[in-house]
Amino acid sequence: MTADVRKLISVVVPMHNEAGNIERLHGTLTSVLSGLTGFDYEMVCVDDGSRDGTLDALLAKAALDPHVRVVELSRNFGKEAALTAGLDQARGDAVVPLDADLQDPPELIAELIAQWQAGHDVVLARRVDRHVDSFFKRKTAEVFYAIHNSISPLKIPSNVGDFRLMDRCVVDVIKSLPERQRFMKGLFAWAGFKTAVVDYTRAPRHRGDSSFSGWRLWNLALEGITSFSTAPLRIWTYLGGIGALLTFLYATLIVIRTLVYGVDVPGYASLLVAVLFYGSLQLIGIGVLGEYIGRIYMEAKQRPAYVIRRLHGTDRAGGSTQE
Ligand code: UDP
Ligand code: MG
Repeated sequence: MTADVRKLISVVVPMHNEAGNIERLHGTLTSVLSGLTGFDYEMVCVDDGSRDGTLDALLAKAALDPHVRVVELSRNFGKEAALTAGLDQARGDAVVPLDADLQDPPELIAELIAQWQAGHDVVLARRVDRHVDSFFKRKTAEVFYAIHNSISPLKIPSNVGDFRLMDRCVVDVIKSLPERQRFMKGLFAWAGFKTAVVDYTRAPRHRGDSSFSGWRLWNLALEGITSFSTAPLRIWTYLGGIGALLTFLYATLIVIRTLVYGVDVPGYASLLVAVLFYGSLQLIGIGVLGEYIGRIYMEAKQRPAYVIRRLHGTDRAGGSTQE
């Protein structure tokens, strides 16, 4: 009756239409994880409403390999929600979220674990070379981090994705955060803890296409900024203040001019410009309010971030004493 003292590593993989990647992902993960001495492992695969046979492929794997656990969501909830579901189900002493497309090299996990063993609670995997991502994606990511980090009190490390290792204590903190609209990179950064960084080169997607189009990335960026900063809300006070001041100065100028030179007939152009300018400014301000109110509304409804249709293969696998 040897007590199971081996630590459990959970790899959490959100999957949306990744059927073509499962074989290779499972193979690579198995060879990396089974090569670790002194650790058990589980792969928590979240099927995020795929329509391409991802679930069947996962279930086939789970039937053969007890390390594979499958969380089947009731529909497509998006990557952030799928990842949340995976983290909630993971039972490991350390948890590693990983993309299914093998853009995050599983080989790096050994290094992440080494840093974890050295006493760090969070080990970030940082992409030093993102040449496989399009120029557009790299640039927009750069701009996003620059804007986000300049207006938000919370700094998100740039070039770090969801690929990282987190100790159980960090995962518990993330799980305890009540918000429904989950911008995971932000939540991870918010949690803090003792952090180390490991560098790697980003590989191209193994199969399939990225599901993050320009519009989806834009929404993710809005989510990130509005989740962690109120600067866009407050800026209107200052813009309004500056506008009022300028208007006051201009009004004084007009009064003086009228007193000195008498009434003249000003063109309507300046009037129109001022009206249109402030009109647009007000609309933008209202739009920003709308962004936040929309988010308050979504939170207020208290709907869960995801719905699980079914859990498959939930027994802890690979234990030295149990079957
Ligand atoms: N993903 C998901 N739900 C979605 C979209 C994506 O679970 O609605 C998963 C996807 O299967 C992959 C990961 O999120 O494992 C990253 O997606 P992708 O590779 O498309 O993003 P990129 O690498 O282009 O940022
Ligand atoms: Mg990818």
